[in-house]
Amino acid sequence: MFKSFVPTERTLMGPGPSDVNPRILTAMARPTIGHLDPEFIRLMDEIKQMLQFAFQTRNELTIPVSAPGSAGMETCFVNLVEPGDKVIVCQNGVFGGRMVENVTRVGGVAVVVQQTWGRAVDPEQLEAALKQNPDAKIVAFVHAETSTGVQSDAAALCKLAQQYGCLTIVDCVTSLGGIEVALDAWGADAAYSGTQKCLSCPPGLSPASMSPRALEKIKARTTPVTSWFMDLNLVMGYWGQGQKRSYHHTAPVNSLYGLHEALLILVEEGLEPSWQRHMKNHLALKAGLEAMGLTFVVPEAERLPQLNLVSIPDGVDEASVRQQLLEQYNLEIGAGLGVLAGKVWRIGLMGYASNPKNVLLCVNALEAVLSQYNAHINRGVATAAVQAVYSGS
Ligand SMILES: *Cc1c(COP(=O)(O)O)cnc(C)c1O
Repeated sequence: MFKSFVPTERTLMGPGPSDVNPRILTAMARPTIGHLDPEFIRLMDEIKQMLQFAFQTRNELTIPVSAPGSAGMETCFVNLVEPGDKVIVCQNGVFGGRMVENVTRVGGVAVVVQQTWGRAVDPEQLEAALKQNPDAKIVAFVHAETSTGVQSDAAALCKLAQQYGCLTIVDCVTSLGGIEVALDAWGADAAYSGTQKCLSCPPGLSPASMSPRALEKIKARTTPVTSWFMDLNLVMGYWGQGQKRSYHHTAPVNSLYGLHEALLILVEEGLEPSWQRHMKNHLALKAGLEAMGLTFVVPEAERLPQLNLVSIPDGVDEASVRQQLLEQYNLEIGAGLGVLAGKVWRIGLMGYASNPKNVLLCVNALEAVLSQYNAHINRGVATAAVQAVYSGS
């Protein structure tokens, strides 16, 4: 017969979802109330304010889209791109490819600035594309490419786009909470994130933010937004200002309790301490893995602390290593994606999962499993290298 589903407790160190803070699960178990209840409207207002804090923006339209990160992406493209609009997409991984797909599906014309996977977007190449396409209206790029563990210089890319009169769409799914995101200082126009990466919520919501310039473009559209569900003109009837909210769709009430708690945790910790924690744990992981003889794939200055791309030792079947980690240690790490499939592991240190205990678990479990496969690694030195980072020696 069927019975309740009780999952094994895992340690989630892949590309997402990341470990969820128990405080968030507790918040989500609280009683469901109506999505137009005055108490719920107060919660919505606090979520908007705390999202503005997290994104470092004053954009009034800063709300969680009621679906995962991919829906935040789609919300930006479906609202901002009109048929015939030329959009320059800087692609350096899987998620940039999805942006191209979004542009063409809404009838836009995508100009792709193709970058090497595992490297940051090159501002000079963007500038060349802007010069060649003076009729471009939008520049889109991924701030933190989860498929390759790379961060791009969002401030520089947004500035260039602005110089050439383009709006920007920035994917901040993996960056928000893990590294600096500063929409207003960058001059970004549309950005979206996800709850299941560095915010450490369960998957299913996508915080998004639109600048006044982006809203002007949406208001000036001559064709209706093709998605009814994601049409921000309609969504804002529910998420807008004041007490007069009207039904658009039934908000995922308990998921929003979870997001509220996650943002509260971020406010309590502070943005900079959170970024510093992600960096410290990354450095400890790096010290441990490098002591074992594993190598990091991305050039140091372009690495994401929350998503570590690590090369696989020769002769090792990477999938069976991941399987052993899961079966023996309840530890999940990620496989390579796209052109990097079979060549790298992706080790996430996101949000609540970014802590010394997980770093040690990962380094020691990898050492144990790789030793079992007779991989050529240095044994017995990784723990001390990790500890040296934490003790500052
Ligand atoms: C995870 C991710 C997404 C998609 O988010 P989902 O919640 O899986 O829909 C988009 N962009 C980047 C960079 C991501 O890491």
